[in-house]
Amino acid sequence: MTPMFCIAKLELIIGDFSGDFTTESCRKWLDDNLLQVSDVEVNWLSWVPLTVRCFILRLLQHRLPLAPALRARGVDIPSGRCPLCLLEDENEDHTFVKCPVAKGVWCKISKWMNLNVSNIPSIMDLSNCINGAQGSRMAKRTRTLIGYCTCWMIWLTRNRWLFANTRASVEKMVEEIKILAYSWMDARRTKWHCTWEEWVLNPITGVG
Ligand SMILES: [Zn+2]
Repeated sequence: MTPMFCIAKLELIIGDFSGDFTTESCRKWLDDNLLQVSDVEVNWLSWVPLTVRCFILRLLQHRLPLAPALRARGVDIPSGRCPLCLLEDENEDHTFVKCPVAKGVWCKISKWMNLNVSNIPSIMDLSNCINGAQGSRMAKRTRTLIGYCTCWMIWLTRNRWLFANTRASVEKMVEEIKILAYSWMDARRTKWHCTWEEWVLNPITGVG
């Protein structure tokens, strides 16, 4: 599909036949039609890479290629067990929240960002807890970014474990989350003066 055809199709969807297609009208259409997942509103935080934002959207829509979704599409897979723990079948809630590996990561991340999300029963509850946490606008955005980064790291670790037989400890995952989240903050924030030492100590007080 060519870019011009994409724009033409988008204008058709938006209902703008005047040719006055704008970024704002596109953004409004996306917000109104794509970013509302059941009762949970996805925080389309621009500091997070687009790939990861799309991943979060698919996660909350239960559209990731986990075992139940693959089987529903007729894909023959040898096992539906969670590759991280091999204790239960995988699904969004288990892999990202209830799995012992995920719990271990969230436990350490909770202490680091001053928000306890280590005993949350589902991915939707996790999203609501992080988005509904008290604090300044900056603190809220930072926690959201860290939450997205943590889910992304769990996903990467699960895939490396499954497809490359590369394992990572909880401590290693947490270290990678801190580094990756800092790089996202550092790349997107123009007036941001949090040092790495402040960030590692406490990302919420570190960002001010
Ligand atoms: Zn597991």
